[in-house]
Amino acid sequence: MIRLILDKTAESFEQDIRELIQEFYPGEDFEIRTEEGVHFTNTTQEEKNALKQAKATGENAEVNKKSTKNKAKMASEITPEGVQDEKIRFSFEVSASDMPLKGVRKDDKSVIKAELYDTLVSMTGKTLPWGDLTGIRPVSLVSPMVEAAIEKRKTESDSVNELTETEIRDIKTALTKEYCIEGEKLDLMTDIALREHRILNRIYDVTGKTYKEGWSLYIGIPFCPTRCLYCSFLSNTISAWEKRLPEYMDNLRKEIRYTVREMCGKHRRPLQTIYIGGGTPTALDEKWLQVLMDMVHEECGSANVSILSNVTSREHDWKNTVTGMPGIVEFTVEAGRPDSITKEKLQILKAAGVDRISVNPQTFNQKTLDLIGRKHSVESVIEKYELAREVGFENINMDIILGLPGEKLPEVTHTLCEIARNKPDSLTVHSLAIKRAARLTLERDYWAGIYRAGDENEIMAETRLQEEAEAGENYSLIGHTGTSVSDVAKEKTKFRYPEITRMMMASAYTAEVLNLKPYYLYRQKNMAGNLENVGYSTEGKECLYNILMMEEKHTVIGCGAGCSSKFVLPSKDGDPTHKRVERCDNGKDIKSYIEDVDKFIKRKEELFSLMKE
Ligand code: SF4
Repeated sequence: MIRLILDKTAESFEQDIRELIQEFYPGEDFEIRTEEGVHFTNTTQEEKNALKQAKATGENAEVNKKSTKNKAKMASEITPEGVQDEKIRFSFEVSASDMPLKGVRKDDKSVIKAELYDTLVSMTGKTLPWGDLTGIRPVSLVSPMVEAAIEKRKTESDSVNELTETEIRDIKTALTKEYCIEGEKLDLMTDIALREHRILNRIYDVTGKTYKEGWSLYIGIPFCPTRCLYCSFLSNTISAWEKRLPEYMDNLRKEIRYTVREMCGKHRRPLQTIYIGGGTPTALDEKWLQVLMDMVHEECGSANVSILSNVTSREHDWKNTVTGMPGIVEFTVEAGRPDSITKEKLQILKAAGVDRISVNPQTFNQKTLDLIGRKHSVESVIEKYELAREVGFENINMDIILGLPGEKLPEVTHTLCEIARNKPDSLTVHSLAIKRAARLTLERDYWAGIYRAGDENEIMAETRLQEEAEAGENYSLIGHTGTSVSDVAKEKTKFRYPEITRMMMASAYTAEVLNLKPYYLYRQKNMAGNLENVGYSTEGKECLYNILMMEEKHTVIGCGAGCSSKFVLPSKDGDPTHKRVERCDNGKDIKSYIEDVDKFIKRKEELFSLMKE
């Protein structure tokens, strides 16, 4: 446990400070001391009770170890002032009032984090690949810089839409200065931001409207053939809900109709992309899938016509899009589970103008598929993928997950070899972030003995081992007593990265071999280690929706149970480079969606009213 002592100014940046320290010391908990008193991170009810008792009695209180789940992290005794000194790994004091702050929160945060980062680098002797960036969307910090540089070009009546090498170098220098980031990750985030800019320009090329003027629709079908063990989405076995599907679909239509009328009718915003996810939309049988496709065309098909009527179709061919719906440039359906796909369903999707689908193996190891409750075979993934090609799909994505139970680098390498053999148009690599809803977490005891790369304890152990090796201490830990310095150096490189990082590197290499370029990225928050989710794609086949949604580029409205909506609005500070994101969600329960969709429509109504401001 780390003791963090914060002055009054630093207190309001507690989370940022903690997250940055945690990047250097993964998995470590905190005792935080402020003027207000003492509190803890990851506090269990037992710790809270012990602290209360210690404060009330003025004496040390024993934590009831038996009833605590996370013994490894526990401080065994809590004094009225906090944790006993011997349980504290070290104390860290942040006096932000001594720093050159200006009173602008965003800028002050940068100053505090940069100072803290320098101190942590001197303390530990290591730098972080992402510098002092702890947020989940590093690319979103670069995009405004890219856009500002392009805008500057426009005002200088220079029509060139690409940045020069000098301009790119200036952006990188500014990023290093502000976020202490250098090297590989700096190049990656800059490359992605530049690529995203080019990709999103396609929307303007086709429709004559920028992505900032438009919005996207997400439709949620929260049903799957069976539930996977790692699932943290709202998803239910379709067989259990078959009888109530007509009601679900009626409510879905009502919500979509309302949303499209508001956005396209009232606010004159063109609908630019549609994404159907879930769940697994193809878990619907052929009849219901056809109903869904008809619904999309009936409710959205001509929504843009009056908005785009002034756009000359000679320059922007908005009437003849790949989706068959004027002004809608992309229509994606997740056909994730191969056990939900049939030829007829693929034909229904194709005929409805779906131009991008996802067939998700997650892993090409049968043992893992069985273990995680995906009731299909490895062969069926390949079979359905080939079927989709046969039906005429020219843009197919595959998702894989790193860190699945029991998988190490050789299993992931096998999966990557299969990916390379099948050559999907895009590849999305997820690091398994197990959230609370996942059965994998709920059944923690059952999984206790099974290896999982990216597990917090493993990353902590590997990080410590690396720290010790780098400090030149305790080589006996890794069996090096008496070996030469060069042997030690060789061995050090072997465990330089945790297993999950090696898997991510192997995935990036496979993507490179397949000529798939990274085009969106987000980091896992509150996870130990350096976990990222990255989308790679062949040029021209990138998923616009993924960029728009992940980078919060424009408003994405979710319809259906379990969906959330993000309204991207102008910032209240009046700065055009800033934005404000307002959210609302449709709850996590299919039953309440079926029984009272108006409640969720009402939530949206409140956000629509903000668009008038
Ligand atoms: S297919 Fe996806 S949404 Fe369905 S249960 Fe598995 S992880 Fe969850």
